[in-house]
Amino acid sequence: MEFQSKRVSQIPPYMFAEIKQMKEKLVQSGVHVIDLGMGDPDLPTHAHVVEKLKEELQDHHNFKYPNFRGCQEYREAIAHFYKKQFDVVLDPETEILALIGCKEGVAHLIPSLIDPGDYVIIPDPSYPVYRMATYLANGNEYRLPLVEEHGYKPDFAEIPQAILAQSKLIFLNYPNNPTTAAVDVSFFQEACDFARSHGIAIANDSAYNMVTFDGYQAPSILQADGAKDIAVELGSLSKTFNMTGFRIGYIVGNKDIIQALSIYKSNTDTGQFTPIQKAAAHALKSGYECIDQYNAIYYKRIKEVSEALASIGIEVKETPKSTYFVWAKVPAGYTSKAFATAVLEKTGVIITPGSAFGPGGEGYFRLAVSVDETQLREAIERMKQHLSL
Ligand SMILES: *Cc1c(COP(=O)(O)O)cnc(C)c1O
Repeated sequence: MEFQSKRVSQIPPYMFAEIKQMKEKLVQSGVHVIDLGMGDPDLPTHAHVVEKLKEELQDHHNFKYPNFRGCQEYREAIAHFYKKQFDVVLDPETEILALIGCKEGVAHLIPSLIDPGDYVIIPDPSYPVYRMATYLANGNEYRLPLVEEHGYKPDFAEIPQAILAQSKLIFLNYPNNPTTAAVDVSFFQEACDFARSHGIAIANDSAYNMVTFDGYQAPSILQADGAKDIAVELGSLSKTFNMTGFRIGYIVGNKDIIQALSIYKSNTDTGQFTPIQKAAAHALKSGYECIDQYNAIYYKRIKEVSEALASIGIEVKETPKSTYFVWAKVPAGYTSKAFATAVLEKTGVIITPGSAFGPGGEGYFRLAVSVDETQLREAIERMKQHLSL
């Protein structure tokens, strides 16, 4: 029997689900698989956050349906974070909305803003959810190329007028997954000026806003002048505080965009469990030394992996300033998928083919430093021994 809608049956398999299946097969056949595919690092959630969650679990008032917009404490903590980190003032009532993770926000933002046939301008390569949520909302995707020669920053001027006339939303994602590119406020200013001049909303996915290295501080799109006229920013506790499984994020900025999403969400979900929101609020209001401590570990790993890759002839052009990924060209003679498959079959190491992030990722691969140093070294050692590059 066929139960799937056409829309669902035409979705290509979620890349990470496909890789997970391959991994399970190998594990069952006794291979020690080292997974550098998914961005979900090994380091634990900070203890003070877990303690706060336990404490909130003692209070039965927290067990009711949560507030649709997110509990007061959580929204105020986000306002505190934006003031402290970016010197951006936000109204917790109208300019902040709690999300069940950034992914949920992306998935619901798109149908909140577009009608069938409208265009969404999406970077290529990019996090696959922008593209899939557009497809599920019967929208059209315009691929905005991110190329190495331009530092993986888009050239807005190349978007055809006819597309702009049918576009409702531009997605950006800086610090960028998968390319690891980082920008400064002047880029966000240019992006906001462009979006406003065309009457298009703009959303920056800032999932990695605090995973930064070597003195780099990621800016917020809301630091651009006039940003609140057209811009929103999505963020998450997942990467910043190693809370991927908690499922807690936020969207901030233009109040009309937030209102649209809030209406959509109040008809599809009822928010995240209040103790999780309160633990997240606690994390955002505490000192951020714990973040620095983890960032130092990621950075060390990134540098080690980059050096090891160089020793087998794979060049990482620029040491990343943010994210916990390394993005590099596949060796000559391979497509992205052929290289990732060869690495997995010959070494039991999972990397992500760049093409999984869109056609613009062809020719590259992404590696996450999501395991400890010993396993990372082992992974590179296996590549050295079993891949004749
Ligand atoms: C990891 C990631 C997300 C997902 O964040 P959650 O809050 O865990 O849903 C969103 N966007 C990008 C670019 C990511 O890499």
